[in-house]
Amino acid sequence: MAELPELMVLSKQMNEELKSKEFKSVDVIQEKCLNMEVDSFKDQITGKTIKKVYNKGKWIFFELTDNYHLLLNLGMGADILYHNSDKNSAEEYQCRFNFTDSSCFTCKFWWFGHVDLVLNNELSDHKSTKDIAISPLDSDFTLDYFKKICTGRAMIKNIILNQKKVGGIGNVYIHDILFKAKLHPKKPANSLESFQIDNLFEVMVENIRYAFDKKGLAYEKDFYGKNGDLTKDYFLVAYKEGEKCPYCGRIIEKIKTGSTSSYICPECQKL
Ligand SMILES: [Zn+2]
Repeated sequence: MAELPELMVLSKQMNEELKSKEFKSVDVIQEKCLNMEVDSFKDQITGKTIKKVYNKGKWIFFELTDNYHLLLNLGMGADILYHNSDKNSAEEYQCRFNFTDSSCFTCKFWWFGHVDLVLNNELSDHKSTKDIAISPLDSDFTLDYFKKICTGRAMIKNIILNQKKVGGIGNVYIHDILFKAKLHPKKPANSLESFQIDNLFEVMVENIRYAFDKKGLAYEKDFYGKNGDLTKDYFLVAYKEGEKCPYCGRIIEKIKTGSTSSYICPECQKL
């Protein structure tokens, strides 16, 4: 599932490719993706121009002319693909956005995605995005900010996965982040020493930056259909159940941590 690095790659490419393009039409196969009736959606988006594309956590934001935003969420995963011409677009998609220069992009959701069109003055009420927190590579995501959210009895893993505290990290990159920081995912946040929080912050930022530089996961596609560079080999403990810990040689375990599973080394990450 795409997380912050993949979403950053995608939104950066979309911004470079789509800025100043004008929507000519939209083909909608799966109407349930939309936050309004399909005719109304088409009426409102046609003629709007893209000013900027950026991501907020796992959502892609398109700032449009006439005070609109188009918001895109990939759900459990999706291929969002650019096509030079609408004549050679992917055959399978739930939505296709066509531009006046005859280029287009298609959205093929693996399970279920969202495409919402909202007025700028309604953005602060948009349920799914209004509370998304800043992300580790944002300039205001400082160590001070991180220290403020690492409080209370919640397990440290859940704090990092909480989109209201840290935008964009899900149950993929988290395993190696906690492993490198030598922290058990179930450790209560308020039990961490100050140096452990410093270390975790550093590891997390470094991990996400590296993944972004490598264009994300090998099983995710960018805007041009190209896969990221990070194959299974990249991970240290994630998805390595039954294999040896690269640091100490103990067998890596898969454990339940609340509603999610976690991969840990029981020696390096003591509770
Ligand atoms: Zn170990």
